[in-house]
Amino acid sequence: MAEAKRILLEGGAVAFPTETVYGLGADARSDAAVENIYRIKGRPQDNPLIVHVHLNFDLNSLVYDDKPYAKVLRQTFLPGPLTLVYRSKGRVSSRVSCGLDTLAVRVPSHPGAQEFLRYVNLPIAAPSANISKHVSPVSAEHVYFDLNGKIPLILDGGASSGGIESTVCDVTGEYPVILRQGLVSREMIEKAVGRCEVYVPKEGEQVRSPGMKYKHYAPKCKTRLFDDPKAAVAAFEEEKKQGGRVYILCESKYATLFPSEYVLDLGTTPEDMAARLYSLLRQGEKVADIILAVRPQETGGVMAGVLNRMNKACAGE
Ligand code: AMP
Ligand code: MG
Repeated sequence: MAEAKRILLEGGAVAFPTETVYGLGADARSDAAVENIYRIKGRPQDNPLIVHVHLNFDLNSLVYDDKPYAKVLRQTFLPGPLTLVYRSKGRVSSRVSCGLDTLAVRVPSHPGAQEFLRYVNLPIAAPSANISKHVSPVSAEHVYFDLNGKIPLILDGGASSGGIESTVCDVTGEYPVILRQGLVSREMIEKAVGRCEVYVPKEGEQVRSPGMKYKHYAPKCKTRLFDDPKAAVAAFEEEKKQGGRVYILCESKYATLFPSEYVLDLGTTPEDMAARLYSLLRQGEKVADIILAVRPQETGGVMAGVLNRMNKACAGE
C-alpha cells in the first residue's frame, strides 16, 4: 500500500482489484497522471474515466449531489458495482471527464479496493487495466499479461467476483438513466427509486457515454456469435473439417452438444456468466483460431449487461 501511494503521488499508475474488473488507477487531480493512463492503455482521448473513492470520501468535494434519488441509490447499492454520473465541480483534472461537465464516481466493494482507496485517500481515476479494446482483466495475471513492463505495480486481490464492468448511471436528471448496463440492473434500480430508463443513443446524436461507441472487450482470435445452437454445431463441424482450432463459448445447457474439451462453459445463471465471460475469452484466445459463441436466451435483469458484453466481444471478427 505504501509503495502504491508513493507511485501515485509521483504521478504514476497502479493496478488494483475491484469486484467488477481490475482497474488502472492514477491521481485524478493530476493532468499528467491521468494522461499517463490514456497513453499506457492506448485509450481514445474522448473516452472519460471513472473516479474511484472509498465510502467515507467527501462526495461534495467533487460533485453537485442534488438529486434525492441519488442518495437512495448510494444507500441501496454502495459500495458495489454501480457508477453514478453527477454534475462536476471541476476539482479533478479536466482530462478525467474529457471536457464533459459531469464526473463519474464509483465506490467499489472489493475489500482490497476499499483498503487501497482508504489508504491513499485520493480520488483515483481508473479505467479497466487492459490494453484498450482487449478483454477486461479479472485477475492480476490478466493485468500482467497486458501491461507487464508498462506499469510498476499490480496489487493482487485474487479473481474479481463480479466479472463485468460496473453499471454506469446518470443521476443529473429527473430520474436515473443507465448509460452502461452491468450487475446492478435496471430492474434493481427501478425497485429502489421507482423509475429508471436505459439510454439508447438516437441516430446522429452525440453519445452521452462516449465509451459506448468503441469496439470493446474483444479477444485476439476470431469470433462468431450464434442465436441458434444448431447453427453453432454446424459451424463447429465445418471449422473442425477445415482443421481450425475452434472453441465454443456457451451456457451449460448447450455444452453437451459439443465435445467437452472444446467448450468454454459460461455456467447457468447470469451472475455465473458475468463472472466467467472475460476469463473464458482470455483462456480461449490463447488456444483458439476462432471462438463460436452461443448467445444465452434469457434477456432481462443482470443478463442485459452480460449480453451487452458478449455482443461487443463476439459479434464480428
Ligand atoms: P472503463 O473505465 O473502460 O470501464 O470505461 C468507463 C465508462 O464510463 C465508459 O463507458 C465511459 O464512457 C463512462 N463514463 C465515464 N465518465 C463518464 C461521464 N462523465 N459521463 C458519461 N459516461 C462516463
Ligand atoms: Mg475498459
